[in-house]
Amino acid sequence: MTIRENVKLILSELPDGVELVAAAKTRQPEEILEAVDAGVKIIGENYVQEAERAYQAIGNKARWHFIGHLQKNKVKKAVGLFDMVETVDSVEIAREIDKRCTQIGKIMPILIEINSGREDQKSGVFPEKAGELIEEVSTYQNIRIMGLMTMGPFGGNPEDSRPYFVETKKLFEKIRKLNLPSVEMRYLSMGMTNSYKIAIEEGTNMVRIGTKLFGERDYTSSQATPQ
Ligand SMILES: *Cc1c(COP(=O)(O)O)cnc(C)c1O
Repeated sequence: MTIRENVKLILSELPDGVELVAAAKTRQPEEILEAVDAGVKIIGENYVQEAERAYQAIGNKARWHFIGHLQKNKVKKAVGLFDMVETVDSVEIAREIDKRCTQIGKIMPILIEINSGREDQKSGVFPEKAGELIEEVSTYQNIRIMGLMTMGPFGGNPEDSRPYFVETKKLFEKIRKLNLPSVEMRYLSMGMTNSYKIAIEEGTNMVRIGTKLFGERDYTSSQATPQ
């Protein structure tokens, strides 16, 4: 199947209200462009440098979401390029985003990344710490908190992700009901190629899919590393 056919198929499968983020790490700009021409509206990038290259070919034909681990020294470039940062997990990175956005007069929509698997080496804030982080970041003038994102544990049976999706959805609803000023719990980003069907069953409204759109990744020509 071509990228075009894969995109059409997934778009036809997704229930109304579930947004597709095409996870584009390691892909060539032409491949991403094919996905956009087939109907992809949001591109997810893990690396600022790869995103810059793809942006030159695609520009504003799509919206750009940062879905990787953001380093502080990349924030300045990232805020110029991206329409949303899905992976904010600390006051430090939020503060830097706010500062850089203030300098360019932009308000950045963000998601808070939840480490739902509570794995020490993973990015994301532990679920029980999310409220505290959100309260702090919600006071920043140039950031808008728009929801939560989670990865869940990798590998194994996709069914193993379910409890983590359930927990993150519960947290999403809990925070939504708090009605915090300038926090809008609109997007819940969870589910990848192996797990997106389960994530949809558990109430996600944003899925990040790479392999099922573009095929298996070849890491040799990319700065990305296998996870
Ligand atoms: C690579 C990646 C995805 C997509 O993974 P696939 O298994 O290829 O669908 C989704 N989210 C993030 C954060 C990723 O890095």
